[in-house]
Amino acid sequence: AASSGGLVAYADSGSDAAAVEKPQLPLRKKVVVLGTGWGGTTFLRNLDSKLYDVQVISPRNYFAFTPLLPSVTSGTVEPRSIVEPIRRILEKKGGEIKFWEAECFKIDPKNKKIHCRSNIGTNLDGNGEFLVDYDYLVVAVGARTNTFNTPGVVENCHFLKEVEDAQKIRRSVMDCFERASLPFLDEEERKKNLHFVVVGGGPTGVEFAASLHDFVTEDLSKLYPSIQHLVKISLIEAADHILTMFDKRITNFAEDKFGRDGIDVKTGFKVVKVAKDAITMQNPATGDISVPYGMAVWSTGIGTRPFIVEFMKQIGQANRRVLATDEWLRVRECDGVYAIGDCATINQRKVMEDISEIFRVADKDKSGTLTVKEIQDVLDDIYVRYPQVQLYLKSKQMNGIADLVRSAKGDAEKESVELNIEEFKKALSLVDSQVKFLPATAQVASQQGQYLARCFNKMKDAEENPEGPIRIRGEGRHRFRPFRYRHLGQFAPLGGEQTAAQLPGDWISIGHSTQWLWYSVYATKQISWRTRMLVVSDWTRRFIFGRDSSC
Ligand code: FAD
Ligand code: MG
Ligand code: MG
Ligand code: MG
Ligand code: MG
Repeated sequence: AASSGGLVAYADSGSDAAAVEKPQLPLRKKVVVLGTGWGGTTFLRNLDSKLYDVQVISPRNYFAFTPLLPSVTSGTVEPRSIVEPIRRILEKKGGEIKFWEAECFKIDPKNKKIHCRSNIGTNLDGNGEFLVDYDYLVVAVGARTNTFNTPGVVENCHFLKEVEDAQKIRRSVMDCFERASLPFLDEEERKKNLHFVVVGGGPTGVEFAASLHDFVTEDLSKLYPSIQHLVKISLIEAADHILTMFDKRITNFAEDKFGRDGIDVKTGFKVVKVAKDAITMQNPATGDISVPYGMAVWSTGIGTRPFIVEFMKQIGQANRRVLATDEWLRVRECDGVYAIGDCATINQRKVMEDISEIFRVADKDKSGTLTVKEIQDVLDDIYVRYPQVQLYLKSKQMNGIADLVRSAKGDAEKESVELNIEEFKKALSLVDSQVKFLPATAQVASQQGQYLARCFNKMKDAEENPEGPIRIRGEGRHRFRPFRYRHLGQFAPLGGEQTAAQLPGDWISIGHSTQWLWYSVYATKQISWRTRMLVVSDWTRRFIFGRDSSC
């Protein structure tokens, strides 16, 4: 007989038939994860890996803490300190997850297979290619740097995406200083070698320019006293300002600080060509100008990886720039495929597409009109499914749906207002303008990885109670709420131990104390105690001895 303690898993019916039929562990579904960056790693760390047969594929066998990459370019932090081997992360999960160091080059959604290629080994055909089946595929491959097909960029510029990039930049800075010191160069040549150009005034470009400036003024100027006055750092940005994604106060502070530091901020300039020793930029007022340079770092935003572009063509997303998912992070029209992080974007459902359905569901008494109360009753569901409604009310400083109804009706209002479908449409006609695209940040990627892992952990439960996009669409309450991003704030380190931060609720904080907040947040966010120790000791070493200039 079955134990009542609940610990005996099988044959609890007590019947002979159940005893004879040997209990079988159900075959676990195959989950394949592409990528070991912020999205993929966070997903894996949160997944209940006993529930699935999990395989991870990435050309990189480690996770890299990207927010500290700019610190690696100046030697403030060592490359080792910001990476964690993926196998160490997987080992902590009980060692059941398999990892293959390879890259996926094709997704075949019809047959639920992916095509992979290893760069470090070959098969019997001599090409290192292999196929992997999946039931669920989590695409977390990140993005590539976008060059906008500007000639010469790939050949002559550094990128700052990977740990190797940061190491190369560091070596290149040192080479420029050593070259500029050689006895046979004239003044012009020395100047050219010491002209550092950063293209792109976003958070990465700005932080890199700031950390390079610190490295030069705090450390290198002592070591290269005879040439230090020849150093120049230029930051080129096509828009009218740098850090446009931040509050105006931060932008202004950053521009002023860079001005005082002697960093030449060229806004309104578009780089059109990069040759071996000159960079050409364009501005409507000045036309083309070419400036000699020693080293250039290109950081103007991100684009979609070629194999994802191919995948998008296959699934009818050829006209899009970024792979689209729904609010549950599922790739549309593609069974079992999910995408998170920089490689994907959420296509938020528009209220106007569903307006008749929303009206029908809300109109409980089938009167053909909606009272404020009827709308109120479905409002929570509307907020979950269409967060833009809440954002819209906030942006118009409306206190609730009654305000919206009143505004749709004109102002002469009594208590018992009712809206017909046309008036309801009018009331909500502008809410979709509040649909927001999420930024390509580690914060978004990791929250998506965490959300998706939680959904996977509850998937079996949900399959028995199939989901439908909440009550609004009349299919029963949704098992999982759609993904909702929580913005925890963003930092912009500006050099000289000063950082700007934009915190939730548009709190702005700038200065030395914010730098300390930055130190503590980034120490806390480290993926393991090992990297935390290493990073903190790197910072301490820098405070005491300065940055290392050997390469
Ligand atoms: P990634 O972290 O880029 O990971 C992609 C993974 O996919 C990698 O492991 C890669 O090797 C793998 N991969 C690539 N191609 C394939 C393939 N064909 N098959 C299989 N695997 C593949 N965000 C913040 O929130 N705060 C910051 O301060 C911040 N600072 C940044 C500083 C720098 C210099 C950079 C470059 C980025 C910074 N970001 C920051 C952004 C953040 O790093 C990204 O948004 C984040 O890494 C996105 O996570 P992801 O998982 O989508 O991609
Ligand atoms: Mg990833
Ligand atoms: Mg990463
Ligand atoms: Mg994204
Ligand atoms: Mg009604």
